[in-house]
Amino acid sequence: MPDTASVKTGALKRLIGPVIGPVIDPVAFDFWAAKVNPLLSWERPLARVVARQVAARDSVTLVLKPNRHVPPVQAGQHVPVTVEVDGVRLTRSYSPSSVGGKRGKGCLAITVKRIPGGRVSSHLCQNVRVGDVLELGEAFGEMTLRPEVPRWLYIAAGSGITPLMSLLRAQAAGQSRADVTLLYWARTRADLCFLDELRHLDSHQPGVRVHIILTREAALLPGEHSGRPDAALLTQLVPDLAERRVYACGTGGFVDSLRTLLADQVAGFDAEAFTLPERAAVAGAPVQVTLRRSGRVLDIPAGEALLPALEARGIHPKHGCRMGICNSCACDRISGTSENLNTGATQTEPGVVRICISAARSDMTLDL
Ligand SMILES: Cc1cc2nc3c(=O)[nH]c(=O)nc-3n(C[C@H](O)[C@H](O)[C@H](O)COP(=O)(O)OP(=O)(O)OC[C@H]3O[C@@H](n4cnc5c(N)ncnc54)[C@H](O)[C@@H]3O)c2cc1C
Repeated sequence: MPDTASVKTGALKRLIGPVIGPVIDPVAFDFWAAKVNPLLSWERPLARVVARQVAARDSVTLVLKPNRHVPPVQAGQHVPVTVEVDGVRLTRSYSPSSVGGKRGKGCLAITVKRIPGGRVSSHLCQNVRVGDVLELGEAFGEMTLRPEVPRWLYIAAGSGITPLMSLLRAQAAGQSRADVTLLYWARTRADLCFLDELRHLDSHQPGVRVHIILTREAALLPGEHSGRPDAALLTQLVPDLAERRVYACGTGGFVDSLRTLLADQVAGFDAEAFTLPERAAVAGAPVQVTLRRSGRVLDIPAGEALLPALEARGIHPKHGCRMGICNSCACDRISGTSENLNTGATQTEPGVVRICISAARSDMTLDL
């Protein structure tokens, strides 16, 4: 349920919006309204941190109470989260680890793993406190509950557990009766999030089976396994592999190796990667990228992803997932050749380009 203050803003906006809407400055309204309640906003989707818990080593769960402008989120989706770090607005995607349920009606929880040197994850894990306000965007993602699928295999590595945890929690709340096996990889036991809850689901939730696999733990406890994903381990832990549909989540490399390993072995495969697969170093000669609106002209190595290249030069275009999923960074390529770094496909006709996964292959003009 939206915050009561934002319901009041909603009522106020409905009442006076048609009269003063055309002349009001939303930024000025938000500035003064925030002095009364930081969640009050004319139109910005904001959420207040209402609880903060350590989820595992270097991982923190933030429970968020959204205002009425935050669009609905389904279990398994991801949302763009925007924060200001050292005066710069930065956006990253996070898959809520729970949506509603025990956390409170209308609340979301995100569980963030701190990446060494990572700007947003370090800020969320170390600086954000109860009462702080984050900006959210529209939720994306197709890895949601599908009542027509009877048997699932969920596979997570590290922080990739978050969307799968939210699906398991939705199932525990009665939103699904599917038979689910979860394989959850982490380095050590201390890196596992939600361990007690997962053990409880394994022993009490009908149809749910949880296997923990640790790659760097010296001594394993009963029920824990070790090793990287390979055919032998997968068939040992999941004898009915061929009957299950897979949702997998982790780094780009983890997800890619599973996709190869499980091709034609399972009833279906969907995955979400939290990072792009590692690429060979870029050695392209510089090309000129012209930004039509600002009139700036920049030298950027051919083959380097445009979004980080622009950010490194002090330009901060709108973006979301940084993975080519959410389309938030899409802009018009007026001229020039771009390469989709995920597929290797090149485009020369003027058209829309997602700058987070595209590189310039010739001099180029973007509508930025
Ligand atoms: C759809 C989607 C959902 C996501 N959900 C979650 C989630 O629920 N919880 C969560 O903790 N993260 C999640 N992420 C990752 C998150 O969006 C950020 O990428 C991550 O928090 C790092 O951001 P940063 O600003 O701290 O790092 P940056 O400052 O952007 O990067 C610093 C360095 O860390 C590397 N890096 C970035 N992300 C990762 C990563 N995940 N693992 C290893 N190295 C990385 C970068 O390549 C770079 O070298 C998700 C990503 C996507 C695309």
